[in-house]
Amino acid sequence: MRQRLSSEPDRYRGRRRVPTPPRSRYAVVVTSAFVGAGVVALGAASQLPDAKNINPTVLQNLEQAATTGDALAERGDGERASRGENRDVSTKISEEQAEADAWLLPLEEYQFTSPYGVRFGKLHAGIDLAAPEGTPYKAVHAGEVTAAGYSGGYGYAITIRHSDGTEMIYAHSRRLMVQAGDVVKAGQVIGEVGITGYSYGSHLHIEVHENGTPTDPIVFLREHGVDIKLRIESVYGDLAAS
Ligand SMILES: [Zn+2]
Repeated sequence: MRQRLSSEPDRYRGRRRVPTPPRSRYAVVVTSAFVGAGVVALGAASQLPDAKNINPTVLQNLEQAATTGDALAERGDGERASRGENRDVSTKISEEQAEADAWLLPLEEYQFTSPYGVRFGKLHAGIDLAAPEGTPYKAVHAGEVTAAGYSGGYGYAITIRHSDGTEMIYAHSRRLMVQAGDVVKAGQVIGEVGITGYSYGSHLHIEVHENGTPTDPIVFLREHGVDIKLRIESVYGDLAAS
């Protein structure tokens, strides 16, 4: 377990510099569009039902940032225009800004099985998303890992502190792919769904703490453009809210 930690993050970290789009299938289509077929394939991708909540232009810019790599630093509007790319950027969002502000769904596929609130006479301080054991889950938002390890009823759990001080806990993991002190991006795979700790079945338990106190993740995430129940996420959630 511990020995893998040094290699696993590289596997997931270096590859993608942008938040993961809603479905991996979609990500593959869009990414390949830049490698091969170009804008035509991108247009087709934007018609997938899952793409409806993402501004294709923003996504295009993000993917472009990922493929141009270090050239990004020198990129200017002139260069973009000379490559004949879509300049219809109505929102002036830099790739870095969008990346930092993204709020994403933690899982590609899941079943919402339990809300926040009193359950069996006790506060269920988070929400439960059922998914098969071993399903990779992702950081909803960028932040610093303040805890990663086995923690009583939470089983193998990860705590991530966001820049605004709020914290998210991801619990019952089968496996963790980050350790305390790591800085993660939204969409980065950080662990695998499991049944460790006090868990009645394979699921991801998510908690949100504001000032150290649990709050309803459904409400909190909606304020950031993510709707767990409707399966909506936002690559520019904070920008949209501001
Ligand atoms: Zn739970």
